[in-house]
Amino acid sequence: MSQITSHILILSGPSGVGKTTVWETLHTNYTDRLEKIITTTTRPKREGEIEGKHYYFLSREEFQFCIDSGDMIEYALVHGNYYGSTFKELERIVGLRKYPLYIVDPQGMVHLKPLLEHKWYTVQTFFLLPPSIEELRNRLSGRGTEQSDHLELRLANALVEMEEQDFYDHKIINTTLEETVESLANAIFSK
Ligand code: ADP
Repeated sequence: MSQITSHILILSGPSGVGKTTVWETLHTNYTDRLEKIITTTTRPKREGEIEGKHYYFLSREEFQFCIDSGDMIEYALVHGNYYGSTFKELERIVGLRKYPLYIVDPQGMVHLKPLLEHKWYTVQTFFLLPPSIEELRNRLSGRGTEQSDHLELRLANALVEMEEQDFYDHKIINTTLEETVESLANAIFSK
């Protein structure tokens, strides 16, 4: 497949800052220009999950074949299951003439960026920040997925992760969804 663009976007930021929410609106507004890179995994499919939408589900043997044939950009073993992303997926999105976008935590970005640059892709990175720690606390607890001791741990992690913000090309504060999506789109499309 011919390389139309080799520009890849990475959206990162602490857990609960709003990456998924912002992405959903960004994607709705720019469906024809942006596509999220879908993770490939050996984790069994859960009820309601759709192949090619939530994940690409592979057997252990199939995943190993992707590793051996050099198709994995990166992968990790998490709780006994493999997760990773493939060059095939990247090229699928590039072939649609869209920008591929990764959503990763800050550790993921540190790992991923050099791997992509090593393969000659250009990478544009975005760090999403909460308006305040108090607001991050509200959003994490509003999500309803955290127990309170877990919440404090997430907040402590978020503070550490936020120290990495200066390593990113763009820092965007997730104020209102509308403003944030507009700032992100301006940064992506005016490059
Ligand atoms: P992440 O993917 O970074 O972990 P989520 O997208 O799950 O974060 O968002 C965490 C919570 O914050 C969700 O309850 C979401 O509805 C809320 N949220 C995200 N962005 C905003 C925003 N701009 N204003 C208000 N609430 C937001």
